[in-house]
Amino acid sequence: MGLSFRWYTRGMDVFGKLSQYDFGEVHFCLDKSTGLKAIVAIHDSRLGPALGGCRFIEYDTDDAAYIDALRLARGMTYKAALAGLAHGGGKSVLIRPKQRFDRVALFRAFGNFIENLRGHYITAEDSGTGLEDMEIIRTQTKHVTGIDPSHGGSGDPSPFTALGVRRGIEACVKFKLGRNSLEGVHVAVQGVGHVGYYLCKELHAAGAKLTVADVDKLKSERAQREFGASVVDINDVAKVHCDVFAPCALGAGLNDDTIPHLHARIVAGAANNQLAEPRHGDDLHARGILYAPDYAINAGGLVNVAQEVKGYDATAARERTLKIYDTIWEIAERSKKVNAPTYKVADILVEEKLHAAAKR
Ligand code: NAD
Repeated sequence: MGLSFRWYTRGMDVFGKLSQYDFGEVHFCLDKSTGLKAIVAIHDSRLGPALGGCRFIEYDTDDAAYIDALRLARGMTYKAALAGLAHGGGKSVLIRPKQRFDRVALFRAFGNFIENLRGHYITAEDSGTGLEDMEIIRTQTKHVTGIDPSHGGSGDPSPFTALGVRRGIEACVKFKLGRNSLEGVHVAVQGVGHVGYYLCKELHAAGAKLTVADVDKLKSERAQREFGASVVDINDVAKVHCDVFAPCALGAGLNDDTIPHLHARIVAGAANNQLAEPRHGDDLHARGILYAPDYAINAGGLVNVAQEVKGYDATAARERTLKIYDTIWEIAERSKKVNAPTYKVADILVEEKLHAAAKR
């Protein structure tokens, strides 16, 4: 096929960026015959081979794709380390061609590229990719997860992510409210898509009272029908007088506009990058709101996919996901002890784990 590797970030301080994000290594692939432009960013592999999804979206510039890959890969290191996985953090970014392209040929070329990295990076689904793409990659390499359950894959990660979030909420509720169960605990869920729906199912089964909001009315009505949830407008869900606010939609939901209106004493949900800026984590802490760091509480899906690497075992994946309770508890306890925001405590825990792995 003739893969060619070259730096194609023009005018960018490539190594400066690597240093800024504490990298690591980055691999580039340009395959002219299929239009494949791929970046595989491996942030850290001290705990094991890098694992992380493959994003396939349009980017305005190559630089933007490069930065996205670095940022996302570093996030994966933190998530995997905190979940106790024997994996480092990696991510691949495929720049979606603006002109017509042959999707099968492009993902086949990408599979070949992954194979050339000899298991140093293991790929999975992410924005813009799906099961079918993983199946195409699988024709070229075994270093791919998120494949069809009929081929030994782990299937939809969302129920595992939701299970982990439910466990995280239980830990927060015990820690902050001193309650041993979710019976009667009021949770406001922002976004009832894949994870939000399964989270409502978990919470409803545990006896929680639910309020939901989604831009898609059909989804909030389904939660109302199936779990007796009250439905509110998307602009009001963060203001609900409840015990727990669970962001399960987009990132940056915790910001200058929403935090002053929160009545919940706990924020714990599935969304990635919930804090618009790190200082919002300080703000939550100063207000006495217990925030479960996103990458700590939403790791259930990654745990499930990581299990696929060893030979998929749903029971083992479930057992490890249940441990998210302990992780959130440890973060909350340390945060209280040293009077530091939970997001900072979570980062310190990760650094400790990576440091210990480096010593070993
Ligand atoms: P999804 O797209 O299925 O669900 C998101 C839902 O949020 C949709 O129903 C959408 O209509 C709704 N929404 C969008 N904007 C909204 C708004 N302003 N107010 C209320 N609702 C809004 O996505 P998902 O897979 O359920 O993931 C949800 C979040 O969790 C994302 O941030 C994702 O990155 C994160 N996450 C998901 C997984 C997983 O296993 N799917 C794992 C880790 C993290």
